[in-house]
Amino acid sequence: MVSADNGRMLAPNTAAQRVDFEGFAALSPPDRLALLRQSVPGRLVFAHGFGIEGQLIFHWICERALDIDVVTLDTGRLFPETYALWAATERRYGRRIRAVYPDRDALERLVARDGIDGFYRSKHTRLACCDVRKAQPLERALAGASAWIAGLRADQSAARRDAKLIAFDERRRLIKLNPLFDWTRAQVLAHVRAENVPINPLHAKGYASIGCASCTRATAPGEPERNGRWWWERGGHKECGLHLPRPPHRGGGF
Ligand code: SF4
Repeated sequence: MVSADNGRMLAPNTAAQRVDFEGFAALSPPDRLALLRQSVPGRLVFAHGFGIEGQLIFHWICERALDIDVVTLDTGRLFPETYALWAATERRYGRRIRAVYPDRDALERLVARDGIDGFYRSKHTRLACCDVRKAQPLERALAGASAWIAGLRADQSAARRDAKLIAFDERRRLIKLNPLFDWTRAQVLAHVRAENVPINPLHAKGYASIGCASCTRATAPGEPERNGRWWWERGGHKECGLHLPRPPHRGGGF
């Protein structure tokens, strides 16, 4: 467990040393969220992307009135359905979800250099766009936080199997919890239905994993969930850089 020493907040790395990571595995996902809040002082950030996992995590945060900073990265390229879900979710739970936007100057330089749809041109330009619209805003959202919460599941992709339920993020110097890490998509969907949690209507049209509209397509039944993301890219991971251990791509100086 984490405590404050003489009223001072523990440095995040000190906090990590005192959290019983092993104890999280036996708990239910909502209990994992509650234990993180109880164990770690300072600001906890939930990065919400409005996927089914995120909607369920947000539901539990609201249900248990957990003091967690809920943020979303508005890339400016999301589906209209995602914006509608965002608004409907705020209405349903009576709670604002804090939007974090790309840096205006960096975005203007990116679009001037690569064009408005430059991400289709190469992996380099795609990662540059993800860096400006997602990775850099996430770093701002996490600045000064003690821990961040994400919706990764191990069975989403081979790359995500290497993630962990809870770990210390060495690069960012904070704890990272994926409360649904050991759940299957079927388990998440069953709970979403049971709790009547609102989800994106695009899921019913074959969109398993939903990101920016320009970079997401529906997948066929049985196809890996992340195949609908950046479908024009052959091989390599289907990630935008948020959850990779390496430093974010800098996209040529943005
Ligand atoms: Fe840009 Fe596509 Fe990445 Fe969204 S998913 S930030 S539009 S490259």
